[in-house]
Amino acid sequence: MNMQDSPSLLCTNEKRVYGPVNSWRLGQSLGIDPIFTKSTCSYNCIYCQLGSIQDITNNYKIYVPTDEIIKDLQEFLPLKQPLDIITYSGSGEPTLAANLGEVIREVRGVVPDIPQCILTNATMLHNSSVVEDLNQLDRVIVKLDAWDEEMFQRVNRPIAGVTLMDLVDGICHFRQQFKGTLEVQTMIFSTNIKQDLEAFAQLLIRISPDLVQLNTPKRPYPMSWHRENRGNHQGIFNYEVRQLKTITKEQATIITQHLKELTSLEIISIR
Ligand code: SF4
Repeated sequence: MNMQDSPSLLCTNEKRVYGPVNSWRLGQSLGIDPIFTKSTCSYNCIYCQLGSIQDITNNYKIYVPTDEIIKDLQEFLPLKQPLDIITYSGSGEPTLAANLGEVIREVRGVVPDIPQCILTNATMLHNSSVVEDLNQLDRVIVKLDAWDEEMFQRVNRPIAGVTLMDLVDGICHFRQQFKGTLEVQTMIFSTNIKQDLEAFAQLLIRISPDLVQLNTPKRPYPMSWHRENRGNHQGIFNYEVRQLKTITKEQATIITQHLKELTSLEIISIR
């Protein structure tokens, strides 16, 4: 999973529904958090805006009952502003939620006209139930921050047993049968910017996504977990954070152009 962009405070942080978030990639995006109780993920990315993950796990189970999520969504209605999309994200990796498919269907019943997407780290794509769940979505955005195993382990710090090649194989298999839009989201920063972009391009060509989004860690790394970080509630950091090194506009432009030439894919960058 990865996080959404800038905030508004229509929903409180006590709910499984948050935002809407004004996202440079997604527009006005209402977040749905099927994890919620604490930060829970199969990665512990060095830049995660949730801070150090509290529960690093691939435990596939129901974290939040579906009816609690739907109740929070219904409390948010009627819509006070137009929404572009509903995004499954929040307090960790949303595909760890075993009721995700049920949630997607029930949300579709409540707001049938709003497209739905997910931000996922793709580590659960070996699970056929997860693939079935994600097939119900309009957009699937997978995280890919590394193009060699050493960098993968250093940046994403996955749970033991997850390898970059298995991850990419899972994304490729998913890609072959997914009827919606598949996007790759990559965080570019001081660690991976020095690596060979040709190797990255080769992985992108294999995956063949509809879009590649290059991001940079503009949000600080909190030294403790706060649920409001789900939506990047800028300006209310009243707790200790560490600023992360971002890339410059010039670097983003050069990388974007170079990757376009190497892959012929559509590539956009936050800068
Ligand atoms: S995959 Fe997303 S939620 Fe998980 S550690 Fe990385 S940035 Fe955080």
